[in-house]
Amino acid sequence: MRRYGARTVVDHVSLKVLPGQVTCLLGPSGCGKSTTLRMIAGVEMQDEGEIWVDGALVCDRVFRVPPERRHIGLMFQDFALFPHLSVAANVAFGLSGDRAAIDRRVDELLERVGLGNYRETYPHELSGGEQQRVALARALAPRPSIMLMDEPFSGLDNRLRDGIRDETLDILREQDTAVLLVTHEPEEAMRMADEIALMRDGRIVQQGAPYNIYNAPVDRDAVAFFSDIN
Ligand code: ATP
Ligand code: MG
Repeated sequence: MRRYGARTVVDHVSLKVLPGQVTCLLGPSGCGKSTTLRMIAGVEMQDEGEIWVDGALVCDRVFRVPPERRHIGLMFQDFALFPHLSVAANVAFGLSGDRAAIDRRVDELLERVGLGNYRETYPHELSGGEQQRVALARALAPRPSIMLMDEPFSGLDNRLRDGIRDETLDILREQDTAVLLVTHEPEEAMRMADEIALMRDGRIVQQGAPYNIYNAPVDRDAVAFFSDIN
């Protein structure tokens, strides 16, 4: 739970995300999606509740594992690459230990995202889609158990977006990462999700397989929310 002043913006949210699956947190603007993700990431403190990753408690009212030790990867729209670092250095940023092992991991990931020849390139020399793929490689580098994605593709033009998004989710599924993807577009959630959690006014009002939610919306607001899809 999270309060800002007297206002509770996230309340009684219970979410479970499974390895290799994409869970979409779907809801209108201002319903508390980003706040939920920031609390899971640990960059914002919750006022009540617990967060567990890989069977380990990472946060409750008294106990708090710092964000960098939660085995969580982040891809946010405004989570930019470091402009003064090369592509390879950006991907290596969160890694520590043996230099040769780091280089191997960076090479492997850059190959996987199709940027094997861009090691020494700088972010400003890349297109938006290419930057997004570097961001994915960087987020995957420390082998996170969970990837939190807050509309990371919304800055890309429409034509590019679907391709990059599908490719990204394919890679995450193949690495058996649990994905929590925030979106306010029902169509996107219907297409991408194994599971949808429908959020409104700080609460999860319905959760289940996309098909089930679409066919049996919990109330009138949910019907209206999905009505644009055909
Ligand atoms: P969007 O789809 O527009 O990104 P969201 O679902 O991600 O919306 P949040 O950013 O989580 O929404 O915000 C939830 C509510 O909390 C909003 O009404 C917002 O104004 C409020 N809020 C967010 N951060 C703060 C803050 N630091 N201080 C006060 N209120 C905040
Ligand atoms: Mg948001």
